[in-house]
Amino acid sequence: MADYEPGDYVEVQTKKGVFRGVLLPTSQFSDRNVVLLKLDNGYNVGIVPDQIRVLRKGTQKKKIKKSVPAPNPNLPTVSILGTGGTIASYVDYRTGAVHPALSAEDFAYAVPEIRNEANIRARLIFNILSEDMKPEYWIKIAHAIKEESERSEGIVIPHGTDTMTYTAAALSFMFPKLSVPVVLVGSQRSSDRPSSDAYINLLSAVRVAKSDLGEVAVVMHATSNDDVCHIHRGTRVRKMHTSRRDAFKSINSAPIGVVGEELKFTEEYVKKSDETVLVPSLDEKVSLIYYYPGMPVSVFERMLEGMHGAIIMGTGLGHVASDFVPAVKKAVKDGVIIGMASQCLYGQVNLNVYSTGRELKNAGVIPLGDMLPEVAYVKLMWLLGNYDEEEVKRLLPENLRGELASRRVLQ
Ligand code: ASP
Repeated sequence: MADYEPGDYVEVQTKKGVFRGVLLPTSQFSDRNVVLLKLDNGYNVGIVPDQIRVLRKGTQKKKIKKSVPAPNPNLPTVSILGTGGTIASYVDYRTGAVHPALSAEDFAYAVPEIRNEANIRARLIFNILSEDMKPEYWIKIAHAIKEESERSEGIVIPHGTDTMTYTAAALSFMFPKLSVPVVLVGSQRSSDRPSSDAYINLLSAVRVAKSDLGEVAVVMHATSNDDVCHIHRGTRVRKMHTSRRDAFKSINSAPIGVVGEELKFTEEYVKKSDETVLVPSLDEKVSLIYYYPGMPVSVFERMLEGMHGAIIMGTGLGHVASDFVPAVKKAVKDGVIIGMASQCLYGQVNLNVYSTGRELKNAGVIPLGDMLPEVAYVKLMWLLGNYDEEEVKRLLPENLRGELASRRVLQ
């Protein structure tokens, strides 16, 4: 066991020099080779140590007493439903301590400004990295939202950023009506780095959760500065950068609002209804198929095997190689519902321009306008889980939750 522990005042030798400060606890997301130090000047640094020497043992045992103030009757109640991801742990910027945010106390302690915004109820639904997310977990989150919607005025869902937009889309379809805002939020930089975006994102999300929004939104940094967050519609947003703090962009539409000094909705948005209606069923037998030049038809056929539906991410206006057409025709004849979205992401699918497009359309492929491929995938799962075949075909190209620019796509 190491003979130093969080709270000790230490001297750390590194390749870059010698640092002195108080050793901070690490979180599950910290790099194992790095130690965190609160320097004498108040800054926190993460450094790779060659040697650590304890100069003074921590005077008090590190159990910091956290107290949550009594609920303020003048503030609304916001529920924070944790699901994991980088944002699931926080640095307290005054003490530098890293806390996994598991309870109401932890949240209120980690971002104290939240207390001025709302009374917080918090619960951890699960704690996973979002690459491990599954449709059954979306359903779990949806049930937790339904329960909390009866106890609070708004809901914030901290979530890993990788697949946050899939979850946002799934929840958008599962809730045809919402009596509370549902706000997903994540962070791109682990909270033990000085550049972490967790703090501003979470605070902004809580502020949006107090608004009159009645749809699912994603709140993340708007720029690489630490001042403004965008409010994105849950069916229009995509993670467009691996590491930038402003990685989340609304595609084919503008964000529905901004939260900075003040909260402003800039586009039309759905307002709260009097009730929350949950329609949670999903049919997981749907494929999302990225077509690429050289893709063997047999691979395509295998991806359709046993499926009830598929979304193809076609090239350009919505194409696959013309020798795929017989396989498409057969699948459609066997009852597989196939929608076409575009790899371009920006712009509309149009199957009327090129001969391949027309052949695919004649084979029964449904063009999906400017709907994002992942959103189309989740939507098809939801439709198949709740409607019969004819209704699914009718509703897939309809605008149900703002996932399309116009009410109905170009047929
Ligand atoms: N891979 C992580 C996740 O999606 C990244 C993050 O949390 O931002 O859970």
